[in-house]
Amino acid sequence: MPQANAIFKSLSQSDAQVLKPLLKPVVLEHKTILFEAGDTIQSVYFPVTAVVSLVVTLSTGETTEGAMVGRDGAVGISSALDGKIALCRAIVQLPGEAFICDADAFRGAALQSEKLISILFRHEQTVFAQSQQSTACMANHEVEARLCRWMLRARDLSGSDNLPFTQEFLAEMLGVQRTSVGTVAHTLQQAGLIKYSRGKIQILNVEALQDSACECYETVKRQ
Ligand SMILES: [Zn+2]
Repeated sequence: MPQANAIFKSLSQSDAQVLKPLLKPVVLEHKTILFEAGDTIQSVYFPVTAVVSLVVTLSTGETTEGAMVGRDGAVGISSALDGKIALCRAIVQLPGEAFICDADAFRGAALQSEKLISILFRHEQTVFAQSQQSTACMANHEVEARLCRWMLRARDLSGSDNLPFTQEFLAEMLGVQRTSVGTVAHTLQQAGLIKYSRGKIQILNVEALQDSACECYETVKRQ
């Protein structure tokens, strides 16, 4: 059901009625790139169990995550509404279900409703705020606190304590060396917060993880 997505759920009855026939269920596979920066956006995604990362890539190949979008949001909205050119890469971080909507059809529906535009605009503001938070987080907070924040956010959006992440993927998202992620994951495992085996993280102690996470976790959650 599209209602499992918070954006769709927050729509007025008339907006939901217009949008619903335009949505098709889709399963998003891990690491699928929905679009690259500069691509023409063809579709808007409303995740349900899938989680998508919006990442910035440098010419040298390094990547860093700016924002994480799951069932609390949608991917590709602002570009679909204006110009259709993606400003960052969107990559599926956790596989799962989503609803997909043709970008032109979405734009057509949105332009007919001031209420809908207002909800979408508000959502884009929160994604922007999340990116700003990530910049401050990266500049000021330790890798351990950032990794804890990141795992908690992924847990909130996926609704699962089991996160299928390789150290390499985590390093890319956090914009740090893989060895740093390995060291921190080892420390957290020793402390009993997580269980980490090849490509799999199991969260064992949420409260301790919250205590170890930087303030950015709560800030983004509030937003
Ligand atoms: Zn932080």
